[in-house]
Formats: sequence, structure tokens, C-alpha cells
Amino acid sequence: MVTPPIYLDNHATTRVDPRVVEAMLPYFSTTYGNPASVSHRFGWDAAAAVDRAREQVATLIGAESKEVVFTSGATEANNLAIKGALAHLKRKGNHLVTAATEHRAVLDPMKRLAREGWDLTVVACDEHGMVSAEAVEAALTDRTILVSVMAANNEVGTLNPISAIGQLCHARGVLFHTDATQAVGKVPLDVRQDAIDLLSLSAHKLYGPKGIGALYVRRRDPLVRLTPLLDGGGHERGLRSGTIAVPLVVGLGEAADLARRERPEESARLRGLRERLHAGLAARVEAIVLNGHPTLRLPGNLNLSFAYVDGEALMMAMRDVAVSSGSACTSANPEPSHVLTAMGRDEDMARASLRFGLGRFTTAEEIDYAVDAVADAVARLRTHSAAWTTRDRVEI
Ligand SMILES: *Cc1c(COP(=O)(O)O)cnc(C)c1O
Repeated sequence: MVTPPIYLDNHATTRVDPRVVEAMLPYFSTTYGNPASVSHRFGWDAAAAVDRAREQVATLIGAESKEVVFTSGATEANNLAIKGALAHLKRKGNHLVTAATEHRAVLDPMKRLAREGWDLTVVACDEHGMVSAEAVEAALTDRTILVSVMAANNEVGTLNPISAIGQLCHARGVLFHTDATQAVGKVPLDVRQDAIDLLSLSAHKLYGPKGIGALYVRRRDPLVRLTPLLDGGGHERGLRSGTIAVPLVVGLGEAADLARRERPEESARLRGLRERLHAGLAARVEAIVLNGHPTLRLPGNLNLSFAYVDGEALMMAMRDVAVSSGSACTSANPEPSHVLTAMGRDEDMARASLRFGLGRFTTAEEIDYAVDAVADAVARLRTHSAAWTTRDRVEI
């Protein structure tokens, strides 16, 4: 049975897994100590829980627990990685490289640095939204100190060849940061194999709570040195002062552990549901175009453009199916998605896009309900569209 509204916006955020909630609860009311209190049992118990969570996060990404720094989320982790790396690197150069498809939490800090005088190259993507190692290589100069390329795109789900980009950066002695917020726990990823120096992640994209994330900071081959954004009590090896949010950290740890154990099965299930959604819509709706890579994409992502339909209007026409048009983070902004335009979609097709984000709690019945709701809404909007009824059929 389906009880609307239906949530298909799992790239914006995810429901906290009930097992994660359960794991967090004692840390609000029983084990509520401050892990920095080294002189009593309350502090020790809290510190033990934080240690365990740090290990769980490290294991998920192939790191050591000392390499994990807890932050308030991926936005802070990205800022700490990018801004924090510069002070130690400025003797080597002043050139930064990122990609056109990045999340605002990477693009905006990069643009601020460019305004402050750093040289910035924004690498283009291909028509699938993919950033190739060749394109990154072509951007490198003798002055390049940092490359930041995301692991998986939050709008179109495309996976970037981060292992190749990481190897390339290491060969050239350039630090490599990846915003892996959408990829962690969804696709295989290993900071050593993939030659990653800095990696950002966030609990709330992973069935954990909002307000907590982590930055992986490599400690050998090479040791990455960062300058903190916040000064204070010297928590997190001095990299992120402020009392550790123990319940949230425990939630992130549990979410990471569940993702590690359940990812293979969950990915296969989500891929199946995603294909069911795509096939269902393709069978019922004319003139739809897939955005993103046909195969190298997040298992739970489907991004489609519905020709001659405005994505915002489409969302309003099916209020009990929660999806997103363009990027959720910029939906207050009327500009078409910077990711779709970077991929070469024209403005109309960019505005005609919907992002479906399937997740751990999505069911086949919900997918079937969504197919009906979307197909009906598209049909209704197109009936009223002069552009659709008079369209040149050869065009599509
Ligand atoms: C959601 C998201 C972020 C921001 O994460 P917060 O933890 O909400 O700050 C950054 N990058 C990507 C790719 C995201 O999907």
C-alpha cells in the first residue's frame, strides 16, 4: 500500500534510519558526557563512543580513524579542505582546479578564493556531466597546488573517474580533494586505492542525522597539513574546535556501518527500482531525455527532461510526489541548473528536468505510483501547451 506523499528526493536529504535513531538515543540522556572531560566516567564513555564512530567512518572509506575529522557537514568539510590547505601550499603555487559540475559548497569557496587573488581553472564536463582525467590533466600547471573534483554529482548522478584523477594528481605532487557526499556508502570508494588526500562526507545523505559530517585528511604519503577555520579548544587534533556533538557523531558512525554492510544489496535493489521508474515513464511519456551518464551513475539517481514542460510547473502539478527540479540547493534561484547547462543542455531542456532520488525506504509500489503521477501531470501540462501541440515532431 502506498501512503502519499512519496519521498523521491534522497539527494537533498534522507530519512534517518530507525537503527541510527536507536543508536543515538542513549547519548542524549544516559551517556551525555563531554568527550573532552578526561577526569570522569561520563567523559570516558562519551569519548569511547566517539572513537568507535570514528573507526566506523574510517572503515567505510578505507582510512585510519586518526584521519577522520568530524565537522558540521559536507559544506564545512569542503571549506576546511579547500581553505585550510592553502596556507601550507602557497610557497608551491597559487593555482586551484575544480569542475563546472561541483556543488555550491565547493564552487563558492573556490570563487571567493579567486576574488582574493588565487588563480582558478574550472574544468568543463562532457555531455554526460563527467569530468575526465584528461581534462583535469590539461588544466594542471607548475603552479597548481590543489584539485577538487566531486565523486558523484548530486543532480545527474554521474560518477567521475576520481581514482584516475587522484593518481594523476599524486604523480604531479598536487593535493586531491573530492566532495564525496553523494558517493559515500552508495558506490565503492577507497581513499588509498583512489589516491584521495581530502574527502568530504555528510551523514544526512547517508540515512544519518543532519548537522554532522566528516573530512578525511590523509596522514601519510603525503601527510596533509591544514590550517583550521575555527580556533578554540583544540578539538579534533586542533583542526575543528568545538565540543563534539556526540549523539550526531554516533549517528554518523552507525549510518556508516550500515552503509558498509548493506551497500551491495541496497545498490542492486535501487538500480532495479530506478530502471523500473525509467522504463515506466519511457513507456507512458513521449519525448523524455535522460540527463547524466547512462551507466556510470548513482544507483538511486534518475534525472529526466520532459520536453516542452517546465520542471517547476510539473512539480506543482504532482504535489504528493516529492522530487526536485534543478538543484534543490539553488531552487530559490530561478537560473537553470549550472550542471545541466555545463552539460550542454539548452535552457528549455534544463528547465524541463526533474531529479528523482530513490533511497533505502523507497518501495516498488511507490515507484509505480510516481510513474502514474508524473505521466498524468506531463499529459495535463502538455495538453495546455501550444508549443507541444504545434511542435515539430522531427525535432525530438
Ligand atoms: C548535500 C551536499 C553537500 C552539502 O552537505 P551538508 O552536509 O548539507 O553541508 C555538499 N556537496 C554535495 C555533493 C551534496 O550533495
